Amino acid sequence: MIYTDTRDSSVKVDFKTAVMGGMNSATGGLYIPTSFPKLDREFLEKDPAPSFRDIAFKMAKPYCEGEISDDDLNAIIQDAYPFNPKVVPLDNNSYVLELFHGPTCAFKDFGARFMARVMSYFNRSEATPLHILVATSGDTGSAVGSAFHNVPGLDVTILYPEGKVSELQEKQLSTFTGNVRALKVKGTFDDCQKLVKTAFVDNDLRGKLRLSSANSINIARLLPQSFYYMFSALSVKNRVAIDVKNKNQAIIMVVPSGNFGNLTSGLIAREMGAPIDGFVAATNTNRTIPDWIATGDYNARPSVETYANAMDVGAPSNYERIKAMYSLDQVRELFGSYWLDNDGIKSAVQECYRNTGYIIDPHGAIGYKAWDDIKSGAMEALKNGTKNDYTKPGLTPNLPVWADKIINKEASGVILETASPAKFGSTVTDAIGRQPPMPDRLEAVLRLEDRAIPMNNNYEEFKAWLLANLQ
Ligand SMILES: *Cc1c(COP(=O)(O)O)cnc(C)c1O
Repeated sequence: MIYTDTRDSSVKVDFKTAVMGGMNSATGGLYIPTSFPKLDREFLEKDPAPSFRDIAFKMAKPYCEGEISDDDLNAIIQDAYPFNPKVVPLDNNSYVLELFHGPTCAFKDFGARFMARVMSYFNRSEATPLHILVATSGDTGSAVGSAFHNVPGLDVTILYPEGKVSELQEKQLSTFTGNVRALKVKGTFDDCQKLVKTAFVDNDLRGKLRLSSANSINIARLLPQSFYYMFSALSVKNRVAIDVKNKNQAIIMVVPSGNFGNLTSGLIAREMGAPIDGFVAATNTNRTIPDWIATGDYNARPSVETYANAMDVGAPSNYERIKAMYSLDQVRELFGSYWLDNDGIKSAVQECYRNTGYIIDPHGAIGYKAWDDIKSGAMEALKNGTKNDYTKPGLTPNLPVWADKIINKEASGVILETASPAKFGSTVTDAIGRQPPMPDRLEAVLRLEDRAIPMNNNYEEFKAWLLANLQ
């Protein structure tokens, strides 16, 4: 597969270059495959749907062709995924796609574990270590730290905004030893991301250290997230034939979004033939993308703190990839877009529990509420001419092409549950009056020692630290 650059379409690189570089330091652009090969019909129409790992292999293969052999790719996938995504029905036209059954209890395990193994594979013949820099608003850092921990030839420096992640998230970030360390930065997630981005375009630094990224800007994190969209869309497609007795039921993916890596992966799955009719981009108060969809103006802005803090992103980096793949008109046809403020998030956790008995985390809760509103009349009102005010929480005023499917009750929603509710225990407990169950692997991390290193939001200081501490 050939990869190009969102800022310069004359760029052509192979998979290894795209993965090891993270982004194109010459342009500041992001790598993207030049095509998204469709899976064959026979595979897509299997009933029951193929297993998650079979889907992963089939989807990854064209992107690694000629660079990773089938046997090695298969080994990477088997090693990366000792766990599965899980589809749980809420009612007869709503499903939750649980993506938190990996080691750090959030969906980022899917991307990070694949990327770590691919990078390690490509780094086998190198004499010096590859240094991964990763900015995190919460869950990225722990997923990446966990995925790379003790992987030879690679080391990881995590940057996170001090005081802006939960206690449990902080423990998950800051307790690694050996080849993984964490810097707590006096600033926001956007500041952390800026420090990392500045390092990548600093030629002096790059002359001294081999650097790579692990944010959702890395294509090796984005591609594997498309596997679970395919898996869930195929599974739900077969299920709805039974649950609602309609073979033509539309499938809508409802995606709680921050940096929009997850949603971009969904677009890739759809290009590759996943039976997905549309998406709902669900955000918190950091509504840069909903505002863009509503008004046509893209205005990146400083991030705002919310209960769904892994989505506190004011300048979503994958906007660039979405723009490279689709026009604004196409986005408006394909996406519903929805946002909630903090009060809305808490009520959504509560409503989901009251109406369905399902304990959902604050990120997934925005998706739950978005889907609930959409199927309970918000889309119909929009079609009948109600002009939604995009500056208020709720659905943006664009009418997607799948609106009639919703109105005719021929659509099923798949809500992506991106983290275990136990990771956001205090918000969830406040909302529903009981504690969510705590997985053993989270309980264990609370007992470890915090080893985070304090860092000011200052590039020169950060650079000096890197040069003094990495080799
Ligand atoms: C990272 C994260 C998100 C947002 O994903 P993006 O790919 O950045 O849009 C949503 N929920 C949780 C729990 C996350 O960790």
